[in-house]
Amino acid sequence: MSLDDEDETNAEGPTERPNLLSGAISVAAILLFVGTGSSVLSKTLQHYFQGGEPADRTLVIALLLNVALILIGWRRHAALSQEVRIRTVAEERAQALAARDPLTGFLNRRSIAEEGAAMFVRATRRRKAMAMLMLDLDHFKTINDMHGHAVGDALLRAVAAEIAAVMPPIALTARLGGDEFSCGFLFDPAEPSFVERIAEKLVNRMAQPFEAEGLRLHISCSLGVARSDFDCASIDALMRSADIAMYAAKKSGRNRYAWFDHSMERELQVRNELESGLRTAIPRGEIVPYFEQQVDLSTGRLHGFEVLARWEHPIRGLISPELFIPIAEETGMIADLSLSIMRQSFLAARDWDSSLSISINISPWQLRDAWLAQKIIKVLTETGFPANRLEIEITESSLFDNLALAQSIVGSLKNQGVRLALDDFGTGYSSLAHLRALPFDRIKIDKSFVMSLNDNADSAAIVNAIVGLGESLNLPITAEGVETVEIEERLRALGCAKSQGWLYGRPLSVTNVRRLLAERRLLQQQHQQVPADQEAPAPAPTPQIATSQRQAG
Ligand code: C2E
Ligand code: CA
Ligand code: CA
Repeated sequence: MSLDDEDETNAEGPTERPNLLSGAISVAAILLFVGTGSSVLSKTLQHYFQGGEPADRTLVIALLLNVALILIGWRRHAALSQEVRIRTVAEERAQALAARDPLTGFLNRRSIAEEGAAMFVRATRRRKAMAMLMLDLDHFKTINDMHGHAVGDALLRAVAAEIAAVMPPIALTARLGGDEFSCGFLFDPAEPSFVERIAEKLVNRMAQPFEAEGLRLHISCSLGVARSDFDCASIDALMRSADIAMYAAKKSGRNRYAWFDHSMERELQVRNELESGLRTAIPRGEIVPYFEQQVDLSTGRLHGFEVLARWEHPIRGLISPELFIPIAEETGMIADLSLSIMRQSFLAARDWDSSLSISINISPWQLRDAWLAQKIIKVLTETGFPANRLEIEITESSLFDNLALAQSIVGSLKNQGVRLALDDFGTGYSSLAHLRALPFDRIKIDKSFVMSLNDNADSAAIVNAIVGLGESLNLPITAEGVETVEIEERLRALGCAKSQGWLYGRPLSVTNVRRLLAERRLLQQQHQQVPADQEAPAPAPTPQIATSQRQAG
């Protein structure tokens, strides 16, 4: 019987039965040999040497059979023992492989949960606390996308080696999948600084360059830390807490560690609610465009609008994009959200005066989509909005991920006549190389500098420098965040081309923007149907619109 044919689930074990059987046959053969062998042998020897009576033939045959059986049994036993040895080694190896991550040799997600549970119990028994660290590399995907998976794998192995080097002697180290690692170890509950030192070391080490496949790679990590003695009833709860803390570290700027605390749990709950709400909000059309006026500083004329997304939540009211755009980006909903905002804006703007432009914010995540240009052009075609009245705003961070792809997307859009603005200039790297990497038509100075222009010398110097840069590169400048007439005047004196901000009114809903345009006779139908002097009186302006009329009319 071959071992492979055996029933693996048999409780006796697959090799025990044949072992027993061959053993029993051998033992029986040996007993028979002892029983019959001595008399047959002595009779046979007497017959040959003294000519006595020969031994019984049957007994001789039985004896020979006994010898054969003993030999067969012994060989079978040896073969089986060898098979058992091979099989045990293979089983041990399979078990080790099933518990380990093949890339790094660390424990995997299942086995860290098992071994972590044992450590968790040990912690309580020995009056110690267990620390759980969750480590996630920042922007690891970029490395994979830029250099390929072989480099990504080499980097993960190097990261694992560094983690192992930083851990105390008795620690669990695991790779949970992708670029997520976790570690557990015991510490004296009165000495949390022990854990902090390890966390700090890990964060610092990850921020040093790595060598992988001949490349020098720069990454960083976000680390969450939780301890078993602070309201964690089980290893699962401990791992979850560390995970929440890791998420908080990421959210507060990456390249750092954070201890878990219970307020994070509530934050996560709110975020999860927003995320599930957002899934239905987009198809339901609850995410709508609001329009912020962009004004020509030299003439005071309304030039167009920047579109800003708002969530008109049926219960919570208006939700800021600063809350839901990051969620939409992380969950991959940003593409649908953005296209929906574009479609609504272009439809709303169909009968606006043809001099008015629309600026749309494009997230860095969208520039990873090779079909982005085609998708935007499709919405333009379907809504009949002219491409040359559309401007897209991107930030410098969009250029890090995949510059070649960003260049190709922007190239396709520019071929159709779409313009390109560099948003939030001054906050990121503000690099000349980035400005030259793409054919920008405009630079937007971040509102933080504009708002403090008149009371902060550094801001004034930065705005001055950016305006100078714009002049030398022949790129007009838009200042955003203009709240007062004084700032507007200063910007005009500096040579800024356009300005936007609350001085001209808060961002307006589709209905309110129509009202504003009707007042200013900037709706196409009005031109055609109603002579200007017979036009119906404008609806009562809201205070915001009154401001806009005064300032920009
Ligand atoms: P952003 O593109 O820098 O937009 C300007 C932000 O500054 C807007 O905030 C606007 O309401 C605000 N703002 C404008 N003027 C003033 C002012 O005078 N004073 C002050 N204090 N603030 C002013 P908002 O609408 O909350 O948007 C925040 C950010 O959300 C935007 O920053 C943009 O990055 C993002 N965002 C908004 N809509 C979209 C969208 O449709 N797609 C994408 N990808 N991002 C969007
Ligand atoms: Ca913008
Ligand atoms: Ca901006």
